[in-house]
Parts: sequence; structure tokens; C-alpha cells
Amino acid sequence: MKRRNTLDLNPKTRDELIKKAIEVRSLTYSPYSHYAVGAALLTESGKVYTGINIENSAYPTSICAERVAVFKAVSEGERAFIAIAVATDNGGSPCGSCRQVMSEFSPSMQIIDVDGAGIVHLDAPLDDLLPHAFRPEDLE
Ligand SMILES: [Zn+2]
Repeated sequence: MKRRNTLDLNPKTRDELIKKAIEVRSLTYSPYSHYAVGAALLTESGKVYTGINIENSAYPTSICAERVAVFKAVSEGERAFIAIAVATDNGGSPCGSCRQVMSEFSPSMQIIDVDGAGIVHLDAPLDDLLPHAFRPEDLE
């Protein structure tokens, strides 16, 4: 059974999340793709965790900004997320692996994709982006 987050994302919080995602793009380590991604994840406890994509010369070991943000949060005890803002040059959307990882914790969290100028390309709940996801309940 999926649920919607009950906490509303007010416009000021949403704007701050977007601003932070854009800001951290300057820290990206993407010498191979030159596709700089910044993410800012808001948890239900009210904290914000940022992430950048971190590439590696052994390409498959690279990791996306979204998962960096989620793993930072989870490693500090966070398990429930309200929203993530993801900033790229062109407003690209989270990849399937990141959608799956976010779905593990908060299948209805809000996904906000923006470009480098802060123009919103997508603002939708995760379960719209990853319907019928494989969920922890599937292992029961
Ligand atoms: Zn990804």
C-alpha cells in the first residue's frame, strides 16, 4: 500500500531546496561525462542532505547525485524523505537506479527536476515516475 507524504512542501522550502541543488553542482566530480548534477534531499525530520554525481575512471563505479544524498541521509539514521530537488544542465530526471533506491524509503516523495537556471522541468511524486516498483513487501 503506497501512501502520500502528509507534510506539504511549502513554496519557500521548495525554492530553498532547488537553490541548494543548483549550488552544489559546483562540487560535482564529473570529468568524463561533464554532466554536472546536484541534489538536495529534504527529510521528514527537516534536515537537508546534498549530493553530487561522483564519477570514476572505472565508469561503472560512478554514482549519481541522488543516491549520494540518500546514502548520506540513511547513514545518519534518516529513513523518510519529503522531496528531492535535482539540478542538471537540461533538467534531466533521476535514473532508474536512483528511483528504485528512493522508492525503498519514500515511494511518494516529491521529485523536482530543474535545469541550471532553476527552471522546473518536472515536479511529481516518485510513484508516478516508478509505478509498480519492487518494494520491501515483495520479499515478505
Ligand atoms: Zn541515478
